[in-house]
Amino acid sequence: MCIFCKIVAREIPADIVFESINVLAFNDISPQAPTHVLVIPKWHHENAAELAAQAPGLLAEIVSVADQIAKERELDGYRLAFNTGESAGQTVFHAHLHLLGGRALGWPPG
Ligand code: 5GP
Ligand code: ZN
Repeated sequence: MCIFCKIVAREIPADIVFESINVLAFNDISPQAPTHVLVIPKWHHENAAELAAQAPGLLAEIVSVADQIAKERELDGYRLAFNTGESAGQTVFHAHLHLLGGRALGWPPG
């Protein structure tokens, strides 16, 4: 079982900020901004493209959950990122949407 599947199964603790039937959101263990939340499907998909192909509604729900969290926190802007592949910085191969906000975010990202 992958590390995020273990968080879903409550085998590993996480600071959970939102949960629904299909989606879990929790604070990143190594936050890169005042808000750095990971929004994930409760079922294992390797990356965002696989999630889009296999469960497009779930991908849409994940984006909506991120926006809902941003609105609750009254972020004046935010960044969503799906790192895909090792060279793009993906280290956990269970699709996860990074929600980053609460500070000015530079562009382009590193
Ligand atoms: P990636 O680099 O794959 O796009 O993102 C993986 C993210 O998961 C990283 O930002 C990393 O800090 C976070 N992460 C890795 N392991 C854990 C964990 O056990 N708990 C939490 N909350 N975050 C984790
Ligand atoms: Zn998984």
